[in-house]
Amino acid sequence: MPETLLLTGGAGYIGSHTALTLLRRGRDVVVVDDLSNSSAESIRRVNRLSGREAVFYEADVRDRGKLKEIFANHKIDAVIHFAGYKAVGESVAEPLKYYQNNLDTTLALCETMPQFGVNRLIFSSSATVYGTSQNVPLKESEPTGCVNPYGRTKLMNEEILTDYANANKEFAVTILRYFNPVGADPSGEIGEDPRGIPNNLMPYITQVAVGRRPKLYVFGADYPTPDGTGVRDYIHVADLAEGHAAAYERMKPGVNVYNLGSGAGHSVLELVRAYEEANGVEIPYEITGRRPGDVAQSYADPGKANRELNWKTKRTLRDICRDAHNWQTRNPEGYQKS
Ligand code: NAD
Ligand code: UDP
Repeated sequence: MPETLLLTGGAGYIGSHTALTLLRRGRDVVVVDDLSNSSAESIRRVNRLSGREAVFYEADVRDRGKLKEIFANHKIDAVIHFAGYKAVGESVAEPLKYYQNNLDTTLALCETMPQFGVNRLIFSSSATVYGTSQNVPLKESEPTGCVNPYGRTKLMNEEILTDYANANKEFAVTILRYFNPVGADPSGEIGEDPRGIPNNLMPYITQVAVGRRPKLYVFGADYPTPDGTGVRDYIHVADLAEGHAAAYERMKPGVNVYNLGSGAGHSVLELVRAYEEANGVEIPYEITGRRPGDVAQSYADPGKANRELNWKTKRTLRDICRDAHNWQTRNPEGYQKS
């Protein structure tokens, strides 16, 4: 019998790529997603690409009744908890929406999982928990501290899960702190499909590349970095998906925290240039003021994940740019109008 993983938020950007990786590795996958920020088309495409079938439930993870039904219907071996809202600006404007969804989904899982003897959970955290730290490369031991409600929900979730695992020794939690997930499956069939104006750099660049937006606005060129623009650790989403598979395969008792990043920092202008070179396109840009809350540089020390999960990133910045462009050119309007 293949092992079965429940992916909350599995129709989303990272969840759909992880579902594909797991299906290809012979795991069974059950997805629960309310489609608040995604489309069921992603799961249909994952099924087509893998030649296998993920079971899909359109439901809110906070719906305890529905969650029980799902756990009763399937013998779940572990949960990967992606579901949540992720827009920093929106979290500042509507903090309660973020606290309600991002925290109560986790509470619902902690309440329900033990009733069905499921005691392994992998949680999607973020490098945002390192707050304004500039102590790069960032290690897991770096003090945490968040600067917006979204980030605080990530940190609070880490704390809730740690408290819960401390009180219930049979419960194992792996916390994965992602750096900047970008790119798409090389097929161009699944990818990042933000609603409205993208907040993040890569989807903004891809939309400029296909003419959906006239130019990129570079948020600040006066940072203390080699070219003055912000430096981040961009990780191909397929590498990130493989990080989840490795985290499941190597899950240990207790609470374990891992950075998932490449370990390399790249500036905004470096990414623009890499994108132009990989795809033979021009990305017009204008330098504007800094975005409030941004740090000059953030990149991972991924050594712990390299050693303990036997995982490291394999894809290059060029692969990232090629695959992101391929997805966007094949699906200029994302899933909805393709
Ligand atoms: P996404 O929005 O594409 O995926 C999240 C999915 O969760 C969506 O499909 C959405 O419909 C679903 N969802 C939200 N609330 C739900 C609920 N109550 N019940 C059921 N489904 C619900 O985002 P993503 O980029 O794939 O991110 C996945 C996770 O990784 C999130 O927790 C996010 O905070 C975290 N993360 C993302 C990034 C990033 O840059 N993309 C970085 C660090 C951490
Ligand atoms: N950025 C930018 N223009 C944009 C979006 C982002 O210049 O339209 C910059 C941003 O200031 C940061 C980097 O690109 O230095 C990555 O930003 P993103 O929002 O993708 O990730 P995060 O800030 O969450 O690391």
